[in-house]
Amino acid sequence: MQLQSGKAVINNCRLFDGTGSTVKTSQALHYEDGVITYVGDAAHQPEYDPDSTQIIESPDFTVIPGLVEAHFHPTYFNVAELADLDIKYPVEYVTLLAAANAKLALECGYTSARSGGSLFNIDVWLKKAINEDVIIGPRLASNGREICGVGGLMDWNPDYRKIGMEGLVLLINGPEEARSAVRKLVKDGVEWVKTYPTGDAAAPDVNDHHTLCMTFEEMHAVVETAHNHKLKVTGHCRATEGIKNALLAGYDCLEHGTFMDNETMDLLLERDVPVVPALYFELASIENGPAFNLPQAVIDGHQETLDGGTESARRILKEGGRLGMGGDYGFAWNPHGDYAKELSFFVNYVGFTPEETLMCATKTGSEIAGSDDQVGTLETGKLADILVINGNPFDDIRIMEDRSNFYAVIQNGIIKSGSALRS
Ligand SMILES: [Zn+2]
Repeated sequence: MQLQSGKAVINNCRLFDGTGSTVKTSQALHYEDGVITYVGDAAHQPEYDPDSTQIIESPDFTVIPGLVEAHFHPTYFNVAELADLDIKYPVEYVTLLAAANAKLALECGYTSARSGGSLFNIDVWLKKAINEDVIIGPRLASNGREICGVGGLMDWNPDYRKIGMEGLVLLINGPEEARSAVRKLVKDGVEWVKTYPTGDAAAPDVNDHHTLCMTFEEMHAVVETAHNHKLKVTGHCRATEGIKNALLAGYDCLEHGTFMDNETMDLLLERDVPVVPALYFELASIENGPAFNLPQAVIDGHQETLDGGTESARRILKEGGRLGMGGDYGFAWNPHGDYAKELSFFVNYVGFTPEETLMCATKTGSEIAGSDDQVGTLETGKLADILVINGNPFDDIRIMEDRSNFYAVIQNGIIKSGSALRS
């Protein structure tokens, strides 16, 4: 990804650096050749030559680190039924849709994303196209195809149709097949391996949110093989036993982490494993589900998931755990572009402060994506991935939902989106 060349100064702004410090006014941030060189009081900033420096200045601007979508499904597009996830369109068209979703995510302020699973190997190639400046999109950590036990949540095509699931999921029976699935992904070039230890409210009959979809032995085989090749492992974990299995098997992250008892919470905190609750999706499914003919049993399951997931997220934050913000966007009732609804939801429904929420969405997100040595906070020496917001999200987080409020979405010091490009 190209670096900006030259000097730039964002002056006299409100600034949140994502390190845990409070929001400060009258701040300045300097960057040069894509790297941050100063963050601090405007009064004490180093001198600069206004003729040779790009200057962004307004006391109305709030400057924060670029956001991280920690559970991004680039290949989901207007998913209203299962077939929309795997067999509706050919891979050529899904690739184009994924490129459009990546561009949209960047325009929404998400300068980084960690894939939560993608059709075929699209996110690996999407990442290459973004890194080589062929298209714009978030700095991506890729995931490729997911892994699930045969007959589990993701194995929905009936055998008599002879369709298989290989575009979306590698289906496994036993630890040996788990190992061979991970080895396929190693060859594909992914960084994360996403698995399905448990079911979900979406499948109330045989794979609901209290059902296990992989054995501990299978999960452990995934972790052993993935870690050997320096890949990380995460999983769709709703049921308490599935969460416990994932923590004991050595998972590096949990998606959802919905139903946690004291023992699981202790294990989670002891291992300091980050969790991406992806909770707004549950509320969107409850509120908008009836319009899409979701059965009542599914909606009831989403309510139980929402209640359990909200309680767990509150506890994790309170007890010093780590949470990432992201959330299964790409469903018809939870479309791409709505990413920041997750942030409003955590402030207005779960009860986090805007500072806590934005720290989860920046610093912790970059830790999950594995890019915290480069981005995620505004500190000297880090890459200039910055969001300049026209307004104050610490007064009203909902302004983050409307990308017309963004003056500049900056990646590597280059303004890639925002009203600055139109003025
Ligand atoms: Zn997901």
